[in-house]
Amino acid sequence: MKVILIGPPGAGKGTQAARAAEAIGVPRVSSGDLFRDHLRRDTELGRLARSYMERGVLVPDDVTIMMVMGWVTDREGEGGFLLDGFPRTPGQAEALDEAMVEQGGIDRAVNIKVSREVLVRRLAGRLICRNCQTSYHKEFAPPRNEDECDLCGGELYQRDDDRPEAVVKRIQVYLDETAPLVEFYRRSGILREVDGEGAVERVGDAIMDALNGRAGRRELP
Ligand code: AMP
Repeated sequence: MKVILIGPPGAGKGTQAARAAEAIGVPRVSSGDLFRDHLRRDTELGRLARSYMERGVLVPDDVTIMMVMGWVTDREGEGGFLLDGFPRTPGQAEALDEAMVEQGGIDRAVNIKVSREVLVRRLAGRLICRNCQTSYHKEFAPPRNEDECDLCGGELYQRDDDRPEAVVKRIQVYLDETAPLVEFYRRSGILREVDGEGAVERVGDAIMDALNGRAGRRELP
């Protein structure tokens, strides 16, 4: 099964992507994590992406497409994939569609919907584990020990782009550049939409229903 998760920053894509990919047994990747890995390793691609990421704007399509499609190609034969945070522009969606033609195309695009107010609150309190990327929230999902990951003991930190100025910018970038993708996938008939404001388990169940096709009829173009 080939799945993409769409949603604004703070919608819970990372958390839900990990759960859903495990449940359906496919590898998953977050394009943001791939970029952060390049930043950490100080690769040429990382140095190129840094200035865009720090400003909360999108990295240019050619670089992003090359990086993510490389990941996808390396996992051919693993029964599909789940992409979190890619595609994010119509150009990326078209590149993915073209690359997937021979494999029958993408099966599902799941849009996680969350209001702007909730997004800002979630992002401003978010903490991430430097080691395993698990996310926590200062208020809503605090770690057992301050600044330490419950799962691996790694150090928790606040991403530079979760600072208030960058958060507002990222949400605007989402509305301008990524929201139109929802229409793109609606027209192609593979879109499912879920309410992302409930508890993690409830949102996760809704996503599984969407992937299993139990959420109702296929949307008509
Ligand atoms: P994320 O972790 O998904 O919020 O991504 C963090 C940052 O990485 C974004 O603000 C962008 O600068 C960059 N990025 C991640 N995914 C993409 C993408 N598909 N296209 C362009 N830039 C991206």
